[in-house]
Order: sequence, then C-alpha cells, then structure tokens
Amino acid sequence: MTNLSKPLRDKLNEHFVINAVQINELQISNDKTIKCAMRLHDGFVVESVLIPSDKRMTACISSQVGCSLTCKFCATGKLKRMRNLNADEIFDQVVLIRDQVKEKYNTPLTNIVYMGMGEPLLNYAEVLLSVEKITSPKGLGMSPQRITVSTAGVSKMIQKLGDDKVKFNLALSLHAANDEKRNSIMPVNETNTLDNLADSLNYFSDKTGTRVTFEYIVFKDFNDSIKDAQELVDFSRRVKSKINIIEYNPIDGGEFAQTTTIRLNAFTAHLEKNGIIVNVRKSRGKDIDAACGQLANKNKLAATNFTN
Ligand code: SF4
Repeated sequence: MTNLSKPLRDKLNEHFVINAVQINELQISNDKTIKCAMRLHDGFVVESVLIPSDKRMTACISSQVGCSLTCKFCATGKLKRMRNLNADEIFDQVVLIRDQVKEKYNTPLTNIVYMGMGEPLLNYAEVLLSVEKITSPKGLGMSPQRITVSTAGVSKMIQKLGDDKVKFNLALSLHAANDEKRNSIMPVNETNTLDNLADSLNYFSDKTGTRVTFEYIVFKDFNDSIKDAQELVDFSRRVKSKINIIEYNPIDGGEFAQTTTIRLNAFTAHLEKNGIIVNVRKSRGKDIDAACGQLANKNKLAATNFTN
C-alpha cells in the first residue's frame, strides 16, 4: 500500500496481522468438482469443495478443523476436533471458492452448503456471523435462501436457530429413521434422539416458516430396505420436510458399501409412492475424495497438524 506513508505502514505492520486463508492445494475431478485444501494461519488445513451442476455452482465449506462427532461413515469423524473456525475463516473459504468458479468456469457462485468438515451447530456463533458476512451487502450480498447449514442433529441448537429466526435453510443428516440404527452410526443420536429431533425441527419450522431437508445416505444392507424406507416415510411425516437421497462413497478403512441401483430405485420408489418429496443426489468428485463424507485432509500438511 504505497499510497500510505512509510511510518504508517511500519506502524500497521507492528500492530496488525491479516490471517487470510490461502489455498494450499487444489484438485479438479473428472466431473469438474474442485477440492481445495485451505491453509489457516496456524498451519491447520480444512477442505472446501466446489460442486458444479447444470443450474448451480455450490461451495461446500468447513466450519471446524476435524470433528468431535465420530459418525461412523465419515472420514472427517476419524480426525480429532482441533479447533473451531472463526467467521472470517469460513467467509474466506467462500471467497476463494467463488474466485475459482470465476477463473475456471467463468460463472458466479450460486449456493453455499455448510457440509464440509465439522458440525456447524457446535460452532454456532461463528457460523451465524459468517452467514451474516456472506449475506451482507458489504460482504458478498448473497441471499440466505441460497445457504444451507447441515447438522448431524444437535436438538438444543436447532431450537436456538428457531429462536434466532434464521433465514437460511436447515438440513439434518438423518441416515437412519430408527434410534437403534442411528445410534450405531451417529453417536450424537444417543443424546439427541429422533423424538428430540422431531420436536426441535418442528419448533424450528414453526418459528422460521421453512421446510427442513433430510439428508439420507444409502448404505448397502444397512439402511436400504423397504422397512428402512417405511421408517423414513413415518419420520418425515412428523416434520415438514423433503428428502435428499445420497449415494454413499466408500472411505479408506470404512465398514460400509454402496447400495445397488436396484435397491436404491426400490427405496426411492417406496418414498415417492407415499407422497414424499425426494431428490436423488449423485455423488460428485469421488475420484479426488471430495464427495460427501470423504473430506479427510489427505495432504501432508494436514497430516502433520492432525497428529500433533
Ligand atoms: S458427518 Fe459431519 S458431524 Fe459427522 S463426523 Fe462427519 S463432519 Fe462430523
């Protein structure tokens, strides 16, 4: 900033530091998905993904370094939670992804999902502040309706979102609509049962007037039977909701497998037959470990930090 005097620049240097997030490594998938390893000022690395589709350019961003919730199917859950990101670090990921979209595909970023590393509702204040920055005219001026925060299911904080009357969308990673099964893959369910979640989601919907999205990853021979589909129908009737069915991406050392197309089709048909709004999401970026549940920082820098 040579338009500032040298003494002022020296003073700024002495008293201030800009902890900007930087792209540490970038991979592009055969399907055009871009995965960025983002380096934070203290050397930790989180991952952010650009998911391109016909109508949307979606940034999937991280809210924590690692995660404390240990969901069985998730690569991030195998990493210890090291710290929360602050709002600026979350915001910076969006800006860096937006710049990549512009540079590589010459289109604007259209949507943001908080579905990367970490549980956003366990970093509540900074996540909400980051949304404020993204939606502010002084920030990126994006509509909150283009932002989705996804939770593994922290009932108390879902209620708080309702009390705060947030304007963004809420998604619940459901993956099983019976407590026993859900406990076995998502330990968070032991203290946030399906009954608790239904109550808090209804509270949220009443306060915000919005419909929640259930994310349901289909695992072979675990949650892909017609009985499982019926349980999902029953649960979704309790909450104003729609369902995204997601193809599973196996992770290294993981115990789950992808279901077959025949079972997936039968599962989806059962939901539709029962009048449920359902979208089937094909996974993107599998070849670069950028798909749902695969974010685990395989690059060296992150490995160094996560084992510290
Ligand atoms: S699925 Fe989400 S909440 Fe569960 S371990 Fe992975 S990052 Fe954490």
